[in-house]
Amino acid sequence: MLRPYADVIIDITHTAVDRVFQYEIPEELFGGLSPGMKVRVPFGQGNHLRDGYIIGFSEKPDYDPLKIKKIEGVCEDGVLIEGQLICLAAWMRERYGSTMIQALKTVLPIKRKPKAAQKRYLVRNVGREECEELLMVCRKKNQRARVRLLEAFLTDETLPYEMVVQKLRVSAASMKPFLEQGICRLETKSCFRNPIQGNLRKGTEISLNEEQRRVTAGILSAWKGDRKPCLLHGITGSGKTEVYMEVIRHVAAEGKQAIVLIPEISLTWQTVMRFYRQFGDRVSIVHSRLSAGEKSDQMERARRGELDIMIGPRSALFTPFPNLGLILIDEEHEAAYKSETVPRYHAVEAAIYRCRLAGAMAVLGSATPSAVSYYRAQNGEYHFFQMKTRAKEASVLPSVEIVDLREELKAGNRRIFSRRLKELMGETLKRKEQILLFLNKRGYAGFVSCRACGKAVKCPHCDVSLKVHQDGKLKCHYCGYETPIPRECPSCGSGYIAGFGTGTQKVEVMVKAMFPEASILRMDMDTTSKKGSHEAILSAFADGKADILIGTQMIVKGHDFPRVTLVGILAADLSLYSGGYEAGERTFSLLTQAAGRAGRDSLPGHVVIQSYSPDNYSVEAAASQDYEGFYWHEILYRKLLRYPPVYRMLSLLITSREEEEAAAMADTVKRQAEAADGEGILELVGPARASVAKINDVYRYTFYAKCEEEEPLLELKQRIEALDWGKDVQHQFDME
Ligand code: ADP
Ligand code: ZN
Ligand code: ZN
Repeated sequence: MLRPYADVIIDITHTAVDRVFQYEIPEELFGGLSPGMKVRVPFGQGNHLRDGYIIGFSEKPDYDPLKIKKIEGVCEDGVLIEGQLICLAAWMRERYGSTMIQALKTVLPIKRKPKAAQKRYLVRNVGREECEELLMVCRKKNQRARVRLLEAFLTDETLPYEMVVQKLRVSAASMKPFLEQGICRLETKSCFRNPIQGNLRKGTEISLNEEQRRVTAGILSAWKGDRKPCLLHGITGSGKTEVYMEVIRHVAAEGKQAIVLIPEISLTWQTVMRFYRQFGDRVSIVHSRLSAGEKSDQMERARRGELDIMIGPRSALFTPFPNLGLILIDEEHEAAYKSETVPRYHAVEAAIYRCRLAGAMAVLGSATPSAVSYYRAQNGEYHFFQMKTRAKEASVLPSVEIVDLREELKAGNRRIFSRRLKELMGETLKRKEQILLFLNKRGYAGFVSCRACGKAVKCPHCDVSLKVHQDGKLKCHYCGYETPIPRECPSCGSGYIAGFGTGTQKVEVMVKAMFPEASILRMDMDTTSKKGSHEAILSAFADGKADILIGTQMIVKGHDFPRVTLVGILAADLSLYSGGYEAGERTFSLLTQAAGRAGRDSLPGHVVIQSYSPDNYSVEAAASQDYEGFYWHEILYRKLLRYPPVYRMLSLLITSREEEEAAAMADTVKRQAEAADGEGILELVGPARASVAKINDVYRYTFYAKCEEEEPLLELKQRIEALDWGKDVQHQFDME
């Protein structure tokens, strides 16, 4: 296919430029250009030559072909890596809807000179003898500071400047004549700070088991072959991390670098440390608690080839590795991979796209893959690998039981601990084993909900659940509305309505009352606000300093506590009511991960799932640790209701303070979409009030378009973007 036009963006440092320009490709460059290349192009009225980056090609001219200018030539000094990241930005802009500048700012590391941590040294220029002679002279003159400096120079040729000033107390004035006479010189070396401190024990060598070896070999052969993305579905504890490390070892041996994405660094600290023990100084991390300087240092180290591996959340995806070979995404199903700020990219999709640009391969791993990834693997879009047994010998999946909380209530138990869970807790404590209690944050953190019907009390202005505050009132987190706690459930009239305080805190009080001798640790927003407190709590618990760890989502991810034999999930299904077609998937994965924390070592594990809807398929499948069972149920539901991944879906959120304007705009969008219909678009939903219909008195409308193919949706999106949005109505796209 002949594609004689190139899309070029110009001068990326200029913030006013937010456009793509079309240029004609001269014949001699046919076939020699690719996205990301830096080219010289005539620009503006004077046709001054400017640098630009190619971000794509097209067959047809966008306007009068006679007016389209020609590419002048290719810049030989073009940095390939920047080009790649710029292409990635262009793709993100197109796909997720943002300006080019917003996308570029997300993708390109902050441009600044690596001035970070410049270290200065004084270096002796003259020989020892000359130095000794000088010393004699200075002694005679009683120049004490210079004497100290020269004495130091006799032992060391190079002295850290700071040490000279602070320890030897030599002032700049005293050393000035030495510098002028060339007796010594000042040198500056930049040293990049490593965000990980302290010496590490070298890890014990683990030899991979049969299953791990088979999967490693499979992934490596995909890497040597077509480099299609790989999905690794491995149950919790099957040893996926060991597989990742082995694959990376091979990739690094070929001179290529790897990015390892994890959902959130503080939640996966143990994993990070395992990489450090294996790869030492060749690994670095980026995360939100690093300063801007530390971050840009790490990016610079990556660019210079000082690193083989970068670990981090979402944003590590943009590490400027010159020779990227692999992007590995652990816990690929996690919601944290989706950006909440513009551009609202999904890190898994963006990773796959970056791999395509770089000729690298993406590996997605999870115990509960997202329905989207699993679906693609089933369709052969991804290579698929599976690990079904736990890696440690004698470690088997725990036994799981579901307790129906409605039955508890009928039997007169109004606590949030079922009789069965309490009994098992007592037994576990007697055996001196450990317990994890998991509270579903989405459901319980400070909300007041009804124990008969499960509904929470909502804000009349914002359509979200109200939170309990310390003064005992209910407050809206978005708008500040307050009201006393009602005595009866506004939905069903039942009197069994209660707040759970700040959730975990309340649970802690109850556990203390039930088991006064047990020692308890709590992990939630309150106890982890200080830097390093996550790690402190986790390691205290891992060292056996407490019997029970109570926590929210934070405690279920990726931790390995060998002495935990009982996991209690206090309210399993509240995330089922959180809305959205992915609620079932979220509940299933949360429960599976939580249950997977039990019996990680040789001791047998028990899990109790307390639920108001014990026969929901997400809860049942999680209890029997049956991913496939869950998946087939879920995919059937998505097919019936035409949801992703079976269909592609474009969603649009329209917001305005003026309800009429929002409604009017929603109407315009609807007409535009209907006009565009018939081009393969299957279904238009809405516009309608969003499930959270207003926040802080800003009205929200949603609109969805579904289609088997992506292309018609992207076209529709462009049409909607081109509408006159005025200044009072905002909009936001998402593409799934
Ligand atoms: P996953 O990431 O799949 O949950 P991990 O890689 O964290 O699993 O492994 C779970 C536990 O099993 C870890 O403690 C790990 O050290 C151990 N492990 C993994 N592979 C092996 C192996 N081949 N032999 C012995 N222990 C292993
Ligand atoms: Zn409100
Ligand atoms: Zn009720």
